[in-house]
Amino acid sequence: MFSDPEDLYGANPAYGRMGLSVHRELAAGLCDLEGAAEAILAPNGLAACALAIASALRAGDHALVADNIYGPTRRFCERRLDAMGISITRFDPRAEPRDLAVLIQDNTRALIIETPGSLTFELVDTPALVAFARERGLTTILDNTWSAGLFHKPMALGVDLSVQALTKYIIGHADGFGGAVMCRTDADARKVRACADDWGLSLAPEEAYSALRGLRTLETRLARHGQSGFALAHWLEARDEVACVLHPGLESHAEHMIWQRDFSGASGLFGFVLKPEYEPKARAFLMRLKHFAMGFSWGGYESLLIPCDPQLNRTAEPHLPDGPLLRVHVGLEAPEDLIADLTDAFSALHE
Ligand SMILES: *Cc1c(COP(=O)(O)O)cnc(C)c1O
Repeated sequence: MFSDPEDLYGANPAYGRMGLSVHRELAAGLCDLEGAAEAILAPNGLAACALAIASALRAGDHALVADNIYGPTRRFCERRLDAMGISITRFDPRAEPRDLAVLIQDNTRALIIETPGSLTFELVDTPALVAFARERGLTTILDNTWSAGLFHKPMALGVDLSVQALTKYIIGHADGFGGAVMCRTDADARKVRACADDWGLSLAPEEAYSALRGLRTLETRLARHGQSGFALAHWLEARDEVACVLHPGLESHAEHMIWQRDFSGASGLFGFVLKPEYEPKARAFLMRLKHFAMGFSWGGYESLLIPCDPQLNRTAEPHLPDGPLLRVHVGLEAPEDLIADLTDAFSALHE
């Protein structure tokens, strides 16, 4: 509040929706984490994705959208961009620049990617796609939620806007919502902020506080999620019932070389495919689990395991073997307990 009317309309007009001290501190922490010039906060991850995308496009533009991005973001691109007079073309996340060169149009202005995709876990070749985008003046937007900003640094690879659902690892306790758009330059940040102001997007102060507190323990929690994730991925890979494990840190992963080059670690989210003969028993497998609960959100302390096939909506082939696709979020519990739970569930496949 102000005592002088000159200050009320001064150089830095203050209004809660535009940010309080907790928001400024959180934004500064996120900028540190990702090496960004500015971070603009949003009420949830989807709103942050929509904000980043809409700020880079206007009526008459066209965007290239990777096929493996978060489903509701893809729906935003299909429905809401269409309503705004913006067209899109979806592409296989494994596309190389020469494949994109065929899809680009005179009015293409943005390239939208997520790596790895949070259902099928393909990695995109971020530096190659960024080089392609830069040459043609496209804004690159990358959903970085999987790495929590710790293991993948999009800004250093030349990405313009990096988005995170704070809801996942940053808040980290499955008890809040939040989103953020990290901007590489001040010019990008001005565009994103104008869009957030016009739409009235802001993050509730309590959620900003939870996210700020989450940043304090992010590295420690993620080390544990990652370590336990590797333990379970290796264990699953050795099971006879499993057709393949979709974890970019495994040598068997198709883009493992990209992971080694562009990532410094792994979070606790990965997938696996059961052999097709176990399809009729997949439900019994899921219902036998005691430690693993079923839930869509992830990034919290607790382990989750869900069937994913109903969520796949692809134009390009997802390069998966036949069989039920399951997604695991490895929480902070003892990995031995989680393996014992899985061992028990696997026995349900043979009953
Ligand atoms: C969950 C998620 C989002 C959306 O976050 P909400 O806070 O649930 O809106 C966006 N991208 C990815 C990769 C996600 O996993």
